Amino acid sequence: MSLKKALQTRSESKCELCAATESLAVYAVPPSSNGSADEHLLICATCCEQIENQEKIAANHWRCLNDSMWSPVPAVQVMAWRMLKRLSNEGWSRDLLDMLYLDEKTQAWAEATSEEKSRAGDVKHIDSNGSVY
Ligand SMILES: [Zn+2]
Repeated sequence: MSLKKALQTRSESKCELCAATESLAVYAVPPSSNGSADEHLLICATCCEQIENQEKIAANHWRCLNDSMWSPVPAVQVMAWRMLKRLSNEGWSRDLLDMLYLDEKTQAWAEATSEEKSRAGDVKHIDSNGSVY
């Protein structure tokens, strides 16, 4: 079964984030390693554009995550988490993020992209002598 077919079956040919049925494409959730359906999503052009281009993000579009974040598919949970993070200046998305529980492996994946990492911040505390503690 081809990747796209596998994803169409899993998603019932709907965008796995917003349930749109038009202009669906395969999206590899970075960082992906083995090319399996587990690391891919079927998403619509609208979701795809806003994932790739932060300036195009329309916060209200992502209210769809209210439903899709409960997907049993880890790749969907990862993208839901990442988008909610990006939108975390919206009150509703912070509330959803609080409710979104990822298991350890999925959480590590969600945080694995450099963008999310740099946001989470690799904070080092330096005392007055300049030594890191
Ligand atoms: Zn979509």
